[in-house]
Amino acid sequence: MAISFSASAKAEICRGLPSKPCCAVAECFGILLFCNSFSPEGIRIVTESREFAQALPKLFKKAFSLEFDSQPQEDTAAKLIFTLTDPAKLQAVFSRFGFDRDKLLQLHLNYSVFEDSCCHSAFLRGAFLAGGSVADPEKGYHLELTTTHAGVARQCFALMQEVLPFAPGLVRRSGSHVLYFKHSDNISDFLTWLGAPVAAMGIMEARLEKELNNKVNRRCNCDDANISKVVKAAQEQLAAIRILQQRRLLQHLPKKLSDAAYARLNNPEASLTELAAMMQPPITKPAMNQRLKKLVSLSKE
Ligand SMILES: [Zn+2]
Repeated sequence: MAISFSASAKAEICRGLPSKPCCAVAECFGILLFCNSFSPEGIRIVTESREFAQALPKLFKKAFSLEFDSQPQEDTAAKLIFTLTDPAKLQAVFSRFGFDRDKLLQLHLNYSVFEDSCCHSAFLRGAFLAGGSVADPEKGYHLELTTTHAGVARQCFALMQEVLPFAPGLVRRSGSHVLYFKHSDNISDFLTWLGAPVAAMGIMEARLEKELNNKVNRRCNCDDANISKVVKAAQEQLAAIRILQQRRLLQHLPKKLSDAAYARLNNPEASLTELAAMMQPPITKPAMNQRLKKLVSLSKE
């Protein structure tokens, strides 16, 4: 199976685990708020990324000094599922984020988790790993982060506006809340900021290639159209002149017109400008055009 663009971006991000404990906690916070389920009853994280699955237990160990209650087999081909249901462990996780597990009403972004600005990108990295995806740039530009918590989506939107030079879009989609980017520059910058410069480069390269192809196509179409117009006009003139020749009218035409006719006959591929320069004395392009049009209309009489 080919590795998706999204999967390779996640793999790249997972190559660098946060070195500071504060960032490990922030990254876990992003993972939990954007994962499949984070409630007082339990935590459930589902992923298809092998690299993320390898990093996850290490991150939880570093952030909370605890292990998952169940985690996938190394060699499974199915989706990778991590769960945490032990009440004492859940209590430890919730209280680390300042939540009271017994009377939790709504999850929110607890800003005290972000001790430093270093933690902002760690948090969004976690959000992307657990609830994010990025489309293959060959097919279109789209990066999104999805959470089931409305408040989290709104606060995350505000956080992104604050720490990034561009704002995401925010929509509701079948019970979920989706933060997204649609512009190739924003997606590329965001991926760089998350720690995936190779994926970011992939976005820019795809865009440059598209722009180049468009430019070449535009020029070809334009040239073709012009050339066929010129060729068609010249063929019409030649046909007209041959008719006049057959009717032995050419030699009886005013000198201006017969000169124009012979110039065209002897130079079937010359442009109007070139023909105009051949006249004695040389004339303008519109004047040349006029003479040739006159020949065409005479041939139809
Ligand atoms: Zn930090």
